[in-house]
Amino acid sequence: MINIIKDQEVLRFIAEESKRQIDELELIASENYVSPAVLAALATPLVNKYSEGYPGHRYYGGNHLIDEIENLAIERAKQLFQAEHVNVQPLSGSPANLAVYLALLQPGDTVLSLRLDHGGHLSHGHPVNISGRLFNFVHYEVDPQTGCLNMDQIRKIAKEVRPRLIIAGFSAYSREIDWAGFQDIASEVGAFTLADISHTAGLIAGGQLINPTPLFDVVTTTTHKTLRGPRGAIIMCQEKLAKKIDQAVFPGLQGGPHDNVTAAKAIALGEALEPSFKKYAHQVIVNAQFLAKKLQEKGYTIVSGGTDNHLMVIDLRPQQITGREAEIALEKAGLSVSRSTIPGDSRPPFNPSGLRLGMAAVTTRGFKEQEMEQIANWFDQALNKRDSKPALAEIKQQVSTLGRRLPPPQYN
Ligand SMILES: *Cc1c(COP(=O)(O)O)cnc(C)c1O
Repeated sequence: MINIIKDQEVLRFIAEESKRQIDELELIASENYVSPAVLAALATPLVNKYSEGYPGHRYYGGNHLIDEIENLAIERAKQLFQAEHVNVQPLSGSPANLAVYLALLQPGDTVLSLRLDHGGHLSHGHPVNISGRLFNFVHYEVDPQTGCLNMDQIRKIAKEVRPRLIIAGFSAYSREIDWAGFQDIASEVGAFTLADISHTAGLIAGGQLINPTPLFDVVTTTTHKTLRGPRGAIIMCQEKLAKKIDQAVFPGLQGGPHDNVTAAKAIALGEALEPSFKKYAHQVIVNAQFLAKKLQEKGYTIVSGGTDNHLMVIDLRPQQITGREAEIALEKAGLSVSRSTIPGDSRPPFNPSGLRLGMAAVTTRGFKEQEMEQIANWFDQALNKRDSKPALAEIKQQVSTLGRRLPPPQYN
């Protein structure tokens, strides 16, 4: 497909990036590979259309087919997550969350969410993010002993600060979430509930983790992480909030939706409804748990002691390696990872004490337990020999051999 591009300057970089994605192993927890069908939908003439408004109520003509596509995406998301109402227009996860805040809150309102360096997200009220500037975010933390959420602590803070909204849903938390517990606390203090399932949506859609949608007021998710769709997001909510949410997305925050992306979302949601997606979601978790066990056997510390989902946060303090050093060494060995803070980190976010790994992408390539064992070995070797260029190059060679044997979906 990329051969249509005649701009050699841009083409060169796209071609090299495509090759990098085959040769290296993507262990970044927020990434995945879309199917050829999803990618193809993105490069269609839908990209030319303007469709401000919603199906049946557009501010531009010529939208009857776009309406059908958007309705398909909505219906599939409803079926997949048992949602009463769905908005498929959010351009990405952060604007989806902002739209929810605009719908439910007044500037200055109090919101309760997990601290960023304990596994939360920038768009959950960090001071450098617009969310933190507009609203009064108060944060809960994970328990310093267990690395897990402590519902009693969350209840205690909620009773003290009486938030208007409680957010559950995280970027770097590897345990199942007590959604019902969050809903109980919210009912006690009269707060709205938002589940941000950006990371785990695919595992929920695949029936492997508990689905908060029937329980929570609002659920947001990116479509490009475990859900394996195009870059973008959707918002799901109870019917009673439908109008507020839709108005907050458009005209509150956004203009025209990206119709090519809506079509790609519809296709990805259709793929997630297939029985094979359940198998995929199951294998993602099997792989993550297997890798966590192998790394623990090699002496690595996994925050919270393991994982129930696709990701894990590794505390590298015992190895006396910083997250940044580890990330750089692993990249030289062909393993793409992201550094991460660990709960209560004494180091700064730019060079924190941990790493976050996720298995969603490599599982899409067909990796199973055997390959996880390989990854654990390479990971350990790369960190031990991080000062040896030849050793890292040797690992990279082995990694790319496996990478070519089990490549990502081919798009040509
Ligand atoms: C990834 C993520 C987002 C933001 O998604 P973008 O598309 O990068 O804006 C929001 N919330 C959580 C929990 C995430 O993990």
